[in-house]
Amino acid sequence: MSQFKGKTALVTGSTSGIGLAIAIALAKQGANIMVNGFGEKDAAITQIKACGVEVDYHGADMSKPAEIEDLIKHTEKRFGTLDILVNNAGIQFTANVEDFPADKWESIIAINLSSAFYTSHHALPGMKKRNWGRIINIASIHGLVASTQKAAYVAAKHGIVGLTKVTALENAKTGITCNAICPGWVLTPLVQKQVDARAQRDGVSDEVAKNALVSEKQPSGGFVAPEQIGALAVFLCGADASEVRGVAWNMDGGWTAQ
Ligand code: NAD
Repeated sequence: MSQFKGKTALVTGSTSGIGLAIAIALAKQGANIMVNGFGEKDAAITQIKACGVEVDYHGADMSKPAEIEDLIKHTEKRFGTLDILVNNAGIQFTANVEDFPADKWESIIAINLSSAFYTSHHALPGMKKRNWGRIINIASIHGLVASTQKAAYVAAKHGIVGLTKVTALENAKTGITCNAICPGWVLTPLVQKQVDARAQRDGVSDEVAKNALVSEKQPSGGFVAPEQIGALAVFLCGADASEVRGVAWNMDGGWTAQ
């Protein structure tokens, strides 16, 4: 399978979890990959390289606009083009609004929302020149509905759904599409931290905490797999999705159907 051979994909936060799964799914379809993120980059690069594509790494901090600009410029220079942009990097912090630390608010808004503006801002001119591009924003069901103790995360994710619609509309007459994916619970390092906190709070095992967390919101009672998000990203990048524009597509075990 090589539908994206000759194309380049940048996946922010692709050293673990959903970002790594998307990078591997796109690489399996022939796309060269620019990896970014603070996790175990060597292991991520090895897994992606095994798909037979070219891989490079840039350690931009997605809370820093100047580093984001350098990331986009470096990707275009290294591979010649930037065709597929997946805005995935994200962090979480939980507290009630009155207890929410201001620095946590600022960094969640910067990493989970503003970074997608800056990457798109710098990547769109090149995509427009070639009249082809795919921008996928990894939002969350928290871009569609809220949960307690997640003020910054929910605000950022609702914001990124709005940014997705504007970007899609501004490019509607071009070969550039922009869509959001809204996952429910996916078992990644970001969610494992919430499982650990719950296990400690309730004095229960990891397995019990996992089941309690997922079944509270997700009617299926099961986690979404990172690879399933990867497969949806591949579809949204493909020719069959050229008229899918500005959607916020949930994959959430029924969470938002309730
Ligand atoms: P993860 O912790 O496994 O991955 C997050 C990635 O972002 C890592 O590579 C990390 O190094 C990177 N990152 C964090 N801060 C960064 C920064 N300042 N600069 C550059 N990279 C940075 O988590 P995940 O669950 O795979 O999350 C990926 C995305 O999916 C996030 O946007 C998250 O909000 C979203 N999401 C996750 C779930 C879930 O249940 N796991 C559900 C809905 C949405």
